[in-house]
Amino acid sequence: MNTVKTIKEVRHQVKVWKKEGYSVALVPTMGSLHSGHESLINRAAKENEKVVVSIFVNPIQFGKGEDLDSYPRDLHKDEIVCDSAGADLIFAPKADEMYYKDIEASVSVKELATGLCGAKRPNHFAGVCTVVSKLFNIIPADKAYFGEKDAQQLAIIKRMVRDLNFDIEIIGCPIVREKDGLAKSSRNMYLSSKEREAALILNKSLTKCRDALSNGEKSTKLLKKIIKSEIEKEVLARIDYIEIVDAFSLDVIDIACKPILVAIAIYIGKTRLIDNFIYEA
Ligand code: AMP
Repeated sequence: MNTVKTIKEVRHQVKVWKKEGYSVALVPTMGSLHSGHESLINRAAKENEKVVVSIFVNPIQFGKGEDLDSYPRDLHKDEIVCDSAGADLIFAPKADEMYYKDIEASVSVKELATGLCGAKRPNHFAGVCTVVSKLFNIIPADKAYFGEKDAQQLAIIKRMVRDLNFDIEIIGCPIVREKDGLAKSSRNMYLSSKEREAALILNKSLTKCRDALSNGEKSTKLLKKIIKSEIEKEVLARIDYIEIVDAFSLDVIDIACKPILVAIAIYIGKTRLIDNFIYEA
């Protein structure tokens, strides 16, 4: 497995593979890889002959006061994870390789980016879509793999691919969790041991909601209340949002009667964590 840092090198390698008739997969990441990322790489390697993992902490998707500077970075460790998970190539560019200083063109998103995480992070999804479009243009893969952990991101990228006619198939992969239920995240390493314990409230509250749905509860107002009262039991937790939306349109709904996305963002101390599940009502 090789690591390259320039657009020219990654383009050259992928062109050679395509010419030789190999199927190529792309797994876009920001690095600090854990078993959630590993599951995407594993699946990509099973379903394709060549796998490129991009590792790039994309500055334009971070807002003011967010953790761009402190975001964990360890390329050497990531190379070991990628190699053992079945990747063939890492593309790890610096910011000035990806962005001209006088960038004019970018990708914007309308309604899908206004709720959930987009409500508090106004330019986040435009930043994500811009970098993902650039990666799709740099690396003409057949398939790209994204986690359901970032459910809004996955929905937006699928829509962007549809709307802008990208010739690539988007594959969503299930959330990987720790044994105790906490969704794996690069940001979990910010948590102290007390906060790590408190963070279990995310999955616990979602489980309560899922149980209520299984028992026939359809009122999203009541379902949100169940999550809220569970989270309020945890003193270190502060609610950013609790939402129940149509899984495709991401529109807020009152009655859970079609596939829904139940999504939460919770601060544990200073760390903002997200979790969700999709329910085929
Ligand atoms: P990130 O490095 O956080 O940008 O994530 C890169 C990709 O890995 C995204 O498609 C995420 O949705 C996915 N991912 C992150 N955490 C998990 C997880 N716990 N389970 C599954 N996929 C994940």
